[in-house]
Amino acid sequence: MLQSKLLIPTLRDAPSEADVVSHQLMLRAGLIRPLAAGIYTYLPLGWRVLRKVSSIIREEMDRIGAQEMLMPAMQPAELWQQSGRYSLYGPELVRLYDRHNREFALGPTHEEVITSLIRDEVNSYRKLPMILYQIQTKFRDERRPRYGLLRGREFMMKDAYSFDADWESLDDTYRNVYYAYTRIFDRCGLTYRVVEADAGTIGGEGETHEFMALADIGEDTVAVCSHCSYSANLETAYTRHGASPAEARTVPKPEKIHTPGVRTIDQLTASLDIEAGHILKTLIYMADGRPVAVIVRGDHEVNETKLKNALRANHIELANEEIVRQHTGAPIGFAGPVGLSLPLWIDQEAAIIESGVAGANEPNYHLRYVVPGRDFPLEHIGDYRNVTEGDSCPHCEGTFKFYRGIEVGHVFKLGTKYSAALGAGFLNAAGRENPVIMGCYGIGVSRILSAVIEQNHDDGGILWPMAIAPFHVHLIPVSVQDPVQRGLAEKLYYRLQAEGMEVLMDDREERPGVKFKDSDLIGIPIRIVVGKQAGEGLVEIKERGQAAAEVIGYEDVVTHVL
Ligand code: ATP
Ligand code: MG
Ligand code: MG
Ligand code: MG
Repeated sequence: MLQSKLLIPTLRDAPSEADVVSHQLMLRAGLIRPLAAGIYTYLPLGWRVLRKVSSIIREEMDRIGAQEMLMPAMQPAELWQQSGRYSLYGPELVRLYDRHNREFALGPTHEEVITSLIRDEVNSYRKLPMILYQIQTKFRDERRPRYGLLRGREFMMKDAYSFDADWESLDDTYRNVYYAYTRIFDRCGLTYRVVEADAGTIGGEGETHEFMALADIGEDTVAVCSHCSYSANLETAYTRHGASPAEARTVPKPEKIHTPGVRTIDQLTASLDIEAGHILKTLIYMADGRPVAVIVRGDHEVNETKLKNALRANHIELANEEIVRQHTGAPIGFAGPVGLSLPLWIDQEAAIIESGVAGANEPNYHLRYVVPGRDFPLEHIGDYRNVTEGDSCPHCEGTFKFYRGIEVGHVFKLGTKYSAALGAGFLNAAGRENPVIMGCYGIGVSRILSAVIEQNHDDGGILWPMAIAPFHVHLIPVSVQDPVQRGLAEKLYYRLQAEGMEVLMDDREERPGVKFKDSDLIGIPIRIVVGKQAGEGLVEIKERGQAAAEVIGYEDVVTHVL
């Protein structure tokens, strides 16, 4: 492609709204442009990278037998009501009305849509196992969209859903997707760790894993064993269950509010005849102190009707773990010391700060604006909160070191949560009806760009890994006016393309300094400069990131590059 024709609006300086390197470089290199907060146009260079990432994903998903499809972004509200998520998803769900005043949502994820499809279209074990996936624009009205493509409100996700006849088969499917993910992230050139997503299970069996690209700006904290392969997401005390010291300063001091009739966990558990901290995992309170949900451990035998009635009497709605997790991003298995109910309105740190939180630590009263870590010690929150750097790993003699990570992928064994709620059953070999066993698997396609740039840049700009670079070769005739230089550059341009290389030729009449600066910024892996020595058939070749160029004969370029 000819650079003179391509829309690559590079910028000398980073716009002030960009406060992390990847965001700055994406704007400066002309990959993206904002339209509104968290909503971006992908310009030609950015789109080329996205397409490359997408094709790697497609190749690896297809390799494990997954089938690509495409579902609607616009989803009827009824479907979300059936799964119970419509009210519980909260303000992150983008809602809209059609001309008949019917309510819709713009899909933040597609469990509901795909489960209803499978309910209607797959009825026999003979079709199972099955993995379906799509690469699609998702909508989440994030409380705090930021860092460019890292946390958008409209972003691109690859989401896959698996359907199995039994749990053993799901184990295989999960493993296949897991390894497909490692190949995808390897090929994208990312440095990452696979971590147990619910660190509440440190030492236990994880059924959900996150793929964390390591980067200082990452919003998650990952504990990595120095010795074995064990790593876990701490759902960091700061981002999930508290606030950074700077953010904590913006939160008012805890304030007692009168909430008549609401009891402490102690009282509640006593009235329910259950053990505190065992069944009751979490109470979730609105900022006004009204309890809205309680999490009950699914694996515990409990008289559900009795429990529900007791909770209702306390004006507490029963929500299942999955719904609460979806709604709050809260980890399961999070129980506080008796008498201290936990602040849990916590999708992100901002949530704590804005809605405030309350603890039922006195009958008829709650606290709001509690910041864990500021107002009480973090180690009081729960078991895994006790993990600190240097602690020993539960699996070997190694110790934990903490890193920051960007969640680029997430795999999750769902089981029958959605198939049961939406009635997606199948006939097994014995002719009996069973709910289908599901898994779901996401990749932040657009977020990968941010993560790759965070990990691959220098002062001059981006250093794209070859596999996802917008072009393979940047061909730069220093002076396009010079017929010798231009002629040689054009010859190379066609030659390299004939060999299957994607070449961007900088045919602009710009000063060499401008061209080289732009070239560093854009970060194409191989640069070939056709300059003064063109008359002798010599060109300069250099890898992005390499200090010095090599002078070679133009006939050797192809073998050199391939
Ligand atoms: P996060 O913890 O960062 O909010 P999530 O756990 O809510 O992400 P999932 O529901 O697991 O996200 O979605 C699958 C993948 O989609 C994530 O692993 C992430 O890579 C990507 N993703 C989620 N939210 C966003 C967003 N707002 N912008 C860009 N990518 C996102
Ligand atoms: Mg989220
Ligand atoms: Mg997450
Ligand atoms: Mg996730």
